[in-house]
Amino acid sequence: MDLDWKNLSFGYIKTDYNIRSYFRDGAWTTPELTTDETVTMHMAATCLHYGQEAFEGQKAFRGADGVIRIFRPEENAKRMRSSAEYLKMALPPVDMFVDMMKRVVKANERFVPPYGTGASLYIRPVLFGTGPQVGVKPAGEYLLIVFVTPVGPYYKEGFNPIKVLIDRDHDRAAPLGTGHVKAGGNYAASLTSAEIGHEKGYPSVLYLDAKEKKHIDECGAANFFGIRDGVYITPKSHSVLPSITNMSLMTLAAEMGLKVEQRPVDYDELGTFDEAGSCGTAAVLSPIGSIYDPQTGHTFVYNDGKPGKWSEKLYHRLRAIQYAEEPDTYGWMAAL
Ligand SMILES: *Cc1c(COP(=O)(O)O)cnc(C)c1O
Repeated sequence: MDLDWKNLSFGYIKTDYNIRSYFRDGAWTTPELTTDETVTMHMAATCLHYGQEAFEGQKAFRGADGVIRIFRPEENAKRMRSSAEYLKMALPPVDMFVDMMKRVVKANERFVPPYGTGASLYIRPVLFGTGPQVGVKPAGEYLLIVFVTPVGPYYKEGFNPIKVLIDRDHDRAAPLGTGHVKAGGNYAASLTSAEIGHEKGYPSVLYLDAKEKKHIDECGAANFFGIRDGVYITPKSHSVLPSITNMSLMTLAAEMGLKVEQRPVDYDELGTFDEAGSCGTAAVLSPIGSIYDPQTGHTFVYNDGKPGKWSEKLYHRLRAIQYAEEPDTYGWMAAL
């Protein structure tokens, strides 16, 4: 495969196959590979009208040893099941889900970027209600698709810190709403806020808790963390999506001797961190250089706007595990 791997963006590039399983008559069909990129469904499908849909995101890497591995696919399976449960969809079995991820990567092996390019194969599972329903009720039929697309290295011009804007005028998720599950609806609800941020020159917005605006929730579609005096601190909240990257960084932070705290994080703590960052599958970790609060006019600056030493160490350690450059101490990497 001849692609300009290093310069791929986070877009969609057609690959050879996607894999599908249908939930009908109370059972999942045997997953099948297809070359069809389209979906035909009933116009009254619940995903179209009532947003009965959830998705996942993960990456496959070609390691230094040439072996292709997926990062913690079982965690995606478990999280998809928790999303499905809350949105009253059929729950895909963990084994079937992981197997679909592996099979679709294998079938598109020629799109897994070569080692050393910093690129990877992004895996996108998506589950949605396809059964017709006009009353507000769960569908009787579902479709689970897993497709892949190669993505370039997130940091093309070096590990550069991002500027973040606090958005008090919009909420991503309600206090007891769907913030804890990976529902597409959360993303639809965040588009206005993200666009306002972009127009003002901020790649990410920081959401405060929707009820009191006192605590830190999430940083765009990524988890937030701060590091202070050897402690890795990350928000615990019903409206924060449990990030697999963050969960892994917490393990690595503890390995490096940092203390880890997952608890409500007060707005006032923003002024006390030595380092701050956001984390998720796309970037692994984005150091936050500064956070601007339009309400107070104050800008919180971290490490003079440069990546902090812990952020840098955490980023490199996780990447080294993903690319099989360092031992996979925790058994996170699943070979096909
Ligand atoms: C997917 C997602 C994340 C990151 O989760 P990872 O498993 O680390 O990719 C964080 N926040 C939100 C809102 C998300 O949807």
